[in-house]
Parts: sequence; C-alpha cells; structure tokens
Amino acid sequence: MFILDETSPLVNSMRVNAANIYWNNLYTSACTLGSPFPGATYRNIGYPNLDSLIYWEGNLLASIFGVNPAILIINDWQSPNAFAYWGVTDPRFYGTIYLGIRLLYDELFSMDKGVLAVVGIMAHEFAHILQWKYQSQLIGKYRELHADFLAGYYLGVKNYILYRDLCAFASSLFTKGDYNFWNPDHHGTPQQRVAAMNMGYGLGKSGSEINKAYLKGDEIIRGF
Ligand SMILES: [Zn+2]
Repeated sequence: MFILDETSPLVNSMRVNAANIYWNNLYTSACTLGSPFPGATYRNIGYPNLDSLIYWEGNLLASIFGVNPAILIINDWQSPNAFAYWGVTDPRFYGTIYLGIRLLYDELFSMDKGVLAVVGIMAHEFAHILQWKYQSQLIGKYRELHADFLAGYYLGVKNYILYRDLCAFASSLFTKGDYNFWNPDHHGTPQQRVAAMNMGYGLGKSGSEINKAYLKGDEIIRGF
C-alpha cells in the first residue's frame, strides 16, 4: 500500500482506478513519502553529464550532511517531482531519495536553471533525510521550509553561488509553480522559500557546522 505521510488524497477512491489513485496521490503530496515509491526505479537517468553530476553531488552532500541515502531515479512523466523516503531500500544506505527524470532533465538541467537547481533540489531532499535522522518535530510547510533552509546552507558551504545572485536564483526556482515541487500549499510561498534559503545560505557561508545549522534552522523556521 502506498501511503503519503503529509497529505490525504483528494480523489474519491471508489470512483477511480488504482493507477489514477496512485498518480493523484503523488500529485497532491509534498515531497516526502511514508512508504517506498511504488513504481519502477532506476540507477541512472541515461544522460551521462547529469548522471555524473548526481553521483558526485550525492557524495558531497552525504559527507556534509552526514547521511547516506540511496539515490534512485523514477519516471515522473505525469508530475515532475523528487521525494525523500526515510526507509531503507538498500542495506548499504540510510533512507532513500527518488529523483524524477522529467523534473531534473526536462525542467531543470537542459533549461535555464541548470546545474545549480539540480543541486538545490538534491540538497533539499537530503535535508529531509537529516530531519528523519534527528526526528524533526516540524510538519507540513515548516518541514519543507527547513529543508529549503538546509539546501541554502549547503550552497553557502560549497560556495556555489554569490550571495548577490542567490535571491534571484531562489526566486526563479521557487516561483516556478507549475508542479508539485513548487506547490505553495505544501512547501510555503515562494517568498518564504527564498527567505529560508537565504538564511541558510548565510549560515553556511559563516562556517557553521551542520548540526548547529540544523538546530538554528529549526528555530528560525518555527518563527515563520
Ligand atoms: Zn521537501
């Protein structure tokens, strides 16, 4: 059984078939799953540049966040998205991150937002794994904004972007709004997401350790 841990499906299960329930559940969810992704998963996307980015960035994220989730690729053709799942799908890893082919390749990597947007989304999903590790009490959009805060932290630690460019980047990423990853009902408004990412970025630039950044972010986001 496929269970979402943050929202209920909007569809009437008596009136639609199993496939539609499944896709409507995905479409109305935030980006954490309460059970393993029920569809097919893949090890690679099949675009070498993007696959190597995911591989290398995944290793860097694992070392900085101190968690080591499995990274699996899914076919998100109906609803571009990425998900974090706390459960273990491979005993060599802690938790699982599912990255959608369409979200990463069609929506980001091959278009204007590029590498940094892929990195930002990966960092956001890694942050959800860290929240499970520390048993975060945040729920709903606060949990999402905390993940944005920690994605900003990662971009700051890695010096991937100048502060003066970060706001424009975050605005561009979070105002996309077409699909679930950017749905303000689940993830906070674009303005809140930009603010959360900016504050996390500042902490990353200041050299704060991940554990301290995690707690500081929790405190800040509770005040949103
Ligand atoms: Zn999320």
